Amino acid sequence: MRHLTRRTALALPWGLLAACAGRDPVTAATAAGPLLEVAPAAAGRGFSQGGLALGRVPPGSRVSLDGRAVRVGPDGRFAIGFAREAEGDARLAVAAPDGRSEIRSLSVLKRDWQVQRINGLPQAMVSPDARQLARIGRERAKLAEIRKLDSELPHFAEGFVWPAQGRISGVFGSQRILNGEPRAPHLGLDIAAPTGTPVTPMGAGRVVLAEDLYFTGQTVLVDHGHGVVSLYAHLSQMDVRTGEMLARGQPLGAIGATGRATGPHLHLGLHWLTTALDPQAVLPAA
Ligand SMILES: [Zn+2]
Repeated sequence: MRHLTRRTALALPWGLLAACAGRDPVTAATAAGPLLEVAPAAAGRGFSQGGLALGRVPPGSRVSLDGRAVRVGPDGRFAIGFAREAEGDARLAVAAPDGRSEIRSLSVLKRDWQVQRINGLPQAMVSPDARQLARIGRERAKLAEIRKLDSELPHFAEGFVWPAQGRISGVFGSQRILNGEPRAPHLGLDIAAPTGTPVTPMGAGRVVLAEDLYFTGQTVLVDHGHGVVSLYAHLSQMDVRTGEMLARGQPLGAIGATGRATGPHLHLGLHWLTTALDPQAVLPAA
């Protein structure tokens, strides 16, 4: 059993970025400062499937990842994420206002995801009725809208902290094969703790949803900016409302077992736009 007692802020990786940039011939050759600094959001973990990376370019630069434009803040900071299924190299391109440009290949490390085979289960799982299916459809559409959110909030670059203390009871990317049928991978991190254990956001941000949903129960989503959104599910209570700004450490609710949950735990999710990321990859080592 691992107990998560670290609540300290993750040190910003900019020191690491500077170290990387120093080895970069592009930056060494120019007097105007580094063109591109990019590093995993948690130091020393490498670019990996399910990971978040933070970067910095001269203000006013254009950045794209695999051809898709990435939002760049007024200070030149940006965030990019890698999917669970990301294959091969990701292509990061930057074009600075002074005419310099660079294309960097980031090799995305493969990870081994947990696979659990469970056979001999009874088939008679309860299926949602028509009314529940309609509700599930509405909620999916709403979440899909939130995934498009690419706000200018700067908090994605401030480091992340554990949102609750407890035992890790489920990891990101794991997949169950029930009676030979593969289920959708688990796209979050489960932290088990007694009902009522306080939950705080991973970082400062704006509440973009605080609602009771069919699968995830009482659910809060917090936007940290540039498409980085965290999710807190199965809460026994919600202490915040949509639109509210939250400081790091400010309680947003408490651990529970609402929605489809077998026991009290926090299901913690993290997205970069539509890409689900591993929350543990951006949190301090437990
Ligand atoms: Zn979960």
